[in-house]
Amino acid sequence: MWHMTKLPKIYTVGDTTVTRVTEMIIRGVPPEVYFPGTWDPTLLEENQGVLPDGLIDENSQLIVSIGTWVVKTPYHTILIDTATGNDKNLPLNSDLANLQLPYLERLQEVGVTPEDVDYVLLTHLHVDHVGWNTKLVDGKWVPTFPNAKYVFPHKEQEYYSSEASHNKENEANFNVYEESVLPVIEAGLTETIGPEGGTFLDLFTFIPTPGHSIGQMSIRLSSGGEEALFGADIMHHPFQVLRPDWNSMYCEFGDQARISRRWALEYIADRPIIYFSTHFPESSAGYVTRSQDGFEWRFI
Ligand SMILES: [Zn+2]
Repeated sequence: MWHMTKLPKIYTVGDTTVTRVTEMIIRGVPPEVYFPGTWDPTLLEENQGVLPDGLIDENSQLIVSIGTWVVKTPYHTILIDTATGNDKNLPLNSDLANLQLPYLERLQEVGVTPEDVDYVLLTHLHVDHVGWNTKLVDGKWVPTFPNAKYVFPHKEQEYYSSEASHNKENEANFNVYEESVLPVIEAGLTETIGPEGGTFLDLFTFIPTPGHSIGQMSIRLSSGGEEALFGADIMHHPFQVLRPDWNSMYCEFGDQARISRRWALEYIADRPIIYFSTHFPESSAGYVTRSQDGFEWRFI
């Protein structure tokens, strides 16, 4: 299910560096399941020669990934989203339950120990974005990054701590708040971002991009006149750059997800902004540019 990664690239954005730590690479994802009701295989024929390599496997099934972005500024070490985590009890999500993956070792490979992390910025509180917030020690969930402040949208906390989110549609996230979010709140390590978003540490701006989840925010990084956008789950796969109306099976509020995706594509296509995705295959990073009738994707 996952493969060892070679040492990741280091991207520079102004005075900061950005590095990917991949938790897992998932091959063999059926596109008609991932993009329910919208998948159209003619996309492949129509864009032959235009699509970059690495988007699908040898059986024309999707390749996706799950990972974290490490941002180092002159002063701080920051993680953006914390993947799935080990040992999790996810009775309704067997694919991601009880993983035993060397995520912390990979973090170490890029020069980051858990104690080094100053901030953990979370785009939203889904299962595959908050898992390494905590680790299991002697049967108890404790913060993995003991010196960090964990920062996330308040609306996400409000929703995932409520009964409303613990329903059938949310099976993938069942038990996630309890194991991966509540322990860092109880440890007094959290800070939340209001519904309008806003700047954080001068370098970052939380931008509301709801739809995939109720209060998901993208995070813009601005430093030394350069910009990047961490778009979280605005898109799950580069096919959505070409087909912005395709929602993934995990998008909870579909119409709003399309609006946020359109906004992001327009925003980054007109500027030299690196897009850092959570789930794209290959490097997970690249540029969106305009094509004759829409948008194109290029990995960097
Ligand atoms: Zn996700």
